[in-house]
Amino acid sequence: MLKRPGIIILALAVALLPVLPVPNFWVTQANYIGLYSIVCIGLVLLTGVGGLTSFGQAAFVGLGAYATGYLTTQFGLSSWLGLLAGLVITGICAYALGTITLRMSGHYLPLATIAWGLSLYFLFGNMEWLGKYDGISGISPISLFGISLDTGRSIYYLIWFFALSAVWVSVNLLNSRPGRAMRALKGGTGMAEAMGVNTAQYKITVFVLAALFAAISGWLYAHFQRAVNPTPFGLNMGIQYLMMAVIGGAGHVWGGLLGALIMTLLQDKLQVWLPSLLGTNGNIEIIVYGLILILILQYAQEGIWPFVVNIWRRVMPAKAPASAAKADTAGDGAAVPLSTRSKPDAGAVILEVDKARKEFGGLVAVNDVSFQLKSADIIGLIGPNGAGKSTMFNLISGVFGVTRGKIMFNGEPIDRLGARQIVARGLGRTFQHVQLLPTMSVLENVAIGAHLRTGRGHLKNVAAAMFRLDRAQECALLQEAEHQLRRVGLGDYLHVEAGSLALGQQRILEIARALCSDPILLLLDEPAAGLRYKEKQALADLLRQLRDEGMSILLVEHDMDFVMELTDHLVVMEFGTKISEGTPEQVQNDPVVLEAYLGGVD
Ligand code: ADP
Ligand code: MG
Repeated sequence: MLKRPGIIILALAVALLPVLPVPNFWVTQANYIGLYSIVCIGLVLLTGVGGLTSFGQAAFVGLGAYATGYLTTQFGLSSWLGLLAGLVITGICAYALGTITLRMSGHYLPLATIAWGLSLYFLFGNMEWLGKYDGISGISPISLFGISLDTGRSIYYLIWFFALSAVWVSVNLLNSRPGRAMRALKGGTGMAEAMGVNTAQYKITVFVLAALFAAISGWLYAHFQRAVNPTPFGLNMGIQYLMMAVIGGAGHVWGGLLGALIMTLLQDKLQVWLPSLLGTNGNIEIIVYGLILILILQYAQEGIWPFVVNIWRRVMPAKAPASAAKADTAGDGAAVPLSTRSKPDAGAVILEVDKARKEFGGLVAVNDVSFQLKSADIIGLIGPNGAGKSTMFNLISGVFGVTRGKIMFNGEPIDRLGARQIVARGLGRTFQHVQLLPTMSVLENVAIGAHLRTGRGHLKNVAAAMFRLDRAQECALLQEAEHQLRRVGLGDYLHVEAGSLALGQQRILEIARALCSDPILLLLDEPAAGLRYKEKQALADLLRQLRDEGMSILLVEHDMDFVMELTDHLVVMEFGTKISEGTPEQVQNDPVVLEAYLGGVD
């Protein structure tokens, strides 16, 4: 993040450039940098944050440019209506395209965006009414408060207004409830869905948003150039946009701006230097770009932005981080706390598994297993490797559907519900293999757990976040996250990167994140795995404390000593079947269990 002095210096530089006696050439360069930045910032949201790669952004720029070019020249519409039309058309196209392609996994999405980029390029080039490959010329300049922005110097401020606004709304968005959900997309959909994030909806949102940014850039471009033709909207440019974002730093909003700056200046210089250096006139700069990209991906995967931040920190050391960080935790009690759900009475049955069965092809992983869990109890699900514990866990938490049987939670059948609907009903979970976002702070990671407790109305919530109208909600969320972190004993680590915590602490973080969803039942999959003795004891103490506060807990666990001293009730499975059940003492003395463990494969 750039802090205040950096922003002031940047704002001054941007404001002063056109009034200084610099040649027009540099103003034009600055205009291009601004135009490219807007596209690249969209790509940062899409690729760097959301993990969705697109080579097709140039086509969205083209939609914005052609929409305004056509409507203003053919129908004499105002350029501002041209902007509106471009945004609507691009929004609809991106939504339709996203609905089809975002379901695709792996490399299909980038491929689909290539196809999209290519086909739109040829569409522009073959349409008679769009002027074929000659395009549309004679586009009028934008007029603002009666002033015609008909020179490079006069449109400069408008371009940079949009570029810096793109930075502002993007930074705001990322530091919000919907922004954290978008950042969670990169960690795979499993964790995000289990926290209640509708990942498909967020993918579409970020895809459409990036396309809208591109369309704004296209609109400015058309009225700056006063003409459009298909060339700048082809696949070549789509690849260059992506390169700019990656080189600048796709994971950082400012990286989009930096990448546009570096690449535009570099391109200009390379076009002059390379031919004189090599004595040829071919398109060699594309080869040099390729080399630069490979070097960056090899040695600076985060792009160049982190280096700039490092240098900046040396020049302007950050002030005491605690105070700056405190400001956004809302530790002052100003926020209205999130509402909580009513807890079931102690001793009431809250989870009832009735002859649950799961078959994988011919394999019966869970064989008609039944058990009950009462409120404010800790139940352990144990058994040798491959017994079906994790599968049982996944049936309850909605990762798998049952083949047969019934699962009732808090008086409601949940065996046909997905993970997102189940967490909404008050069943929080952690993961056997810790799943968190390592570069995000501990506090932000935990706040994702409270995703479902606020923020009704998806689009309204996204828009409010972009313009900082969500501060009350944000305070409440961070306050809740802080409260849960203090509850589990991680209060000293709020602003530390989650990835820097020890494994034991990361597991505790996951418990705090699950608690943030205001659950009535916690599902923990092997919470003690990989922990040292001391850490296991701390974990056991925490779970006992939670139970004493009225929480119900179901844990799948391998470590017998841990389970025996902690649980009220045990269910033992072997080969998918429940072989015993009872208090730890009863189970320990059950000959069937002894046989399974001593004679088994564990
Ligand atoms: P546990 O957690 O008790 O070690 P699991 O529930 O992971 O056991 O596995 C139970 C059985 O189901 C194993 O034989 C395993 O290979 C099989 N199994 C688990 N998940 C799947 C799956 N997604 N597809 C096919 N077989 C699976
Ligand atoms: Mg398992």
